[in-house]
Order: sequence, then structure tokens, then C-alpha cells
Amino acid sequence: MMTTLGADPEDRISRLHAHGLVDLHFDLLMDLYEKRGRAGVLTEEFLPEFEAGNIGVLGVAIYVEDRYLPELGLRVALDQIARLHAEVDLSDRFAICKNYPDILQAREAGKIALLITMEGVEPLGADPNLLRVFFELGVRVIGLTHARRNLAGSGGVFAASGSPRDGLTPFGRDAVQACEALGMIVDLAHINPAGFEDVFAYTTKPLIVSHTNARRYHDIERNISDEQIKMVGERRGVIGINSVLVSPRKVEATLDRYVDHIEHVTSLIGIDCVGIGFDFFEFLYRGWTEAEKRDLATKFTCPHFPPDLMNHSHARNLTRKLIERGFSDEQIEKILYGNWMRIFEGLL
Ligand SMILES: [Zn+2]
Repeated sequence: MMTTLGADPEDRISRLHAHGLVDLHFDLLMDLYEKRGRAGVLTEEFLPEFEAGNIGVLGVAIYVEDRYLPELGLRVALDQIARLHAEVDLSDRFAICKNYPDILQAREAGKIALLITMEGVEPLGADPNLLRVFFELGVRVIGLTHARRNLAGSGGVFAASGSPRDGLTPFGRDAVQACEALGMIVDLAHINPAGFEDVFAYTTKPLIVSHTNARRYHDIERNISDEQIKMVGERRGVIGINSVLVSPRKVEATLDRYVDHIEHVTSLIGIDCVGIGFDFFEFLYRGWTEAEKRDLATKFTCPHFPPDLMNHSHARNLTRKLIERGFSDEQIEKILYGNWMRIFEGLL
């Protein structure tokens, strides 16, 4: 019934999207890197979807695939940043942002603000000094690990138990402390439960989880427990809700279940600590061979993409659903951008 949405729901959605949404995890850089022989990928393949969803700020992740490691970890990471610059140079619709004033300036100019993040510190090799280099290149959010083990620690497994018991290595400890000293945000997405606790022990600033889900609905160690959610809340961090791990069952991978994760986090730590980390990668998945998909399912899991929340052009569906589920305008604005913007205020 239209009446449950108010007189003109689409106008209300447009109003709520006027500031631009913040999505803190997108695998843009590995795709730009793989398509490095072509120019204009960012504007041709991605910009229309960003615009349809009113995306304002996007965390774009450096991620180095297994086949490049260890030898090419640093080179591929640097090339990913180089590809991003080359693509951004071709358009006046994007700005690579290093701090909060940059983000505000980009948004005022109507540009999409891109914040470079790092998913797994493999590009550093064993050299924590390189963190400073990546800081100078604009990287402002660092997650120590993806699912695999590396020199900093171990990722959480895609099962209810079985992650490595050990937490951060001395290198991992030094890395998170160096991040805080430099002014980089530490991202807890993917880290195993023991590493999660260690990051809290070795840091003092707000910590984020750029893209994850609640174990309440998908009980794997790659996601986060109620206790972990509360720890992030106590630090006034923000948890970005992931769209691809909302349920282990395909039939339950729905927009409503996505909103259940938002409600669950909010019920535990309030409306100020939840945001978006869509992790849309259906566009990559669809291009993979059956063998590659099987490999993903064996190593991690079989992702279930909610049909109406599969790429950035679907963002209005989320807002419509939040309205339908009774969220107020003020609450929706916090989820869509306000909470992440509060975290970005710390980027000097
Ligand atoms: Zn991830």
C-alpha cells in the first residue's frame, strides 16, 4: 500500500539520497587492474550504476589475488592505484580523496569521492615502513587480512568454527599501531576471532568493519558475533553491512534479510554505528568460469546475491525497504552516509 510509504515515496528516497550514499567496500581496483589494457572502464562500466544509486563516497579496495603472491604483491597494489588515477583522469565525475576536507570538497563539486582501502597487507611484504608509502598514496583504511593467512595474522574461515587459534603476529601488532599513528583507520573485516581481540588490545581509536554480516543470521567466523558487534559499538566504530553473506541459504538472501542485519546491529549498539559495505561483486562473479566458481565455493563459500540488491543501481531498493520497515528519515540518513561521515571526520 502506498499509504505505508507516505504520499510520494520516490521523492522521499531522492531526498534521502541527496547527500550521496557511502559504501565502504567495493572491489573496483582489481577489476580496473585486470582490464588495464582498456581506457574508460570506470566511466563506461561503473559510473551509470553509481549515478543510478546516488553513490557519493566509495571505499575502493586494493586486493591482490593469490596468483600474484608473494612476488608481485607490491607491484600489483601499486599498479591498481596507478590504474585508478589513470581512469579518474579521464572523467570529471570522480575525485580520489585522502582526508575529510577532500571528501567534502568532492561532494560539494558533485563528484564521487573515492577512498582507497587495503584488504590484506600482503603488498607490504615484511616491511612495515611501506605503510607510510601507502599513506602518502592516499590509502586510509587498512584491513590486515583477507581470508588467507599472511604475515600479520589470519582471516576468519567461512564456517562456524575452525579459524586459526592464533591472533596477530608481532608484525600485525606493529602494523595496526603504525596505522593509528599515521591516521589510518583499522578495518576488522575478515580477521579471525583471535585477531579481532588483539586489534582491540593494541589500539585505542574507533575501529570499523567495512563489510561484514551478523553471525546471528549467517554463523561463520568470517562474520561477527554479538559480542564483537558490542566491542565495535563501545569504541564508537561503524559496521558496514555486506550484501553477499546475509544468509547461507539462497532463498533467504533477500533485501529484507539485509535489513534484518541492520536492525540486529542497531538493536545491540544503536543507530550511530551501522553503515553500508555492500561488497557488490556479482559483476566479477558472472565473468568467472565454472571451475573458478567451484574454487571459490571450496575455498570460501558460494555467495548468494539478493536479486534486488546486486549492484549500486539497486541502492534505491534498500532505501525503499528501510522506509517500508519503519525507519525514520534521520535513521536512514545515518545508515546511508552519516555514520561513515562521522568516521571520516577523523581523517585529517
Ligand atoms: Zn572482503
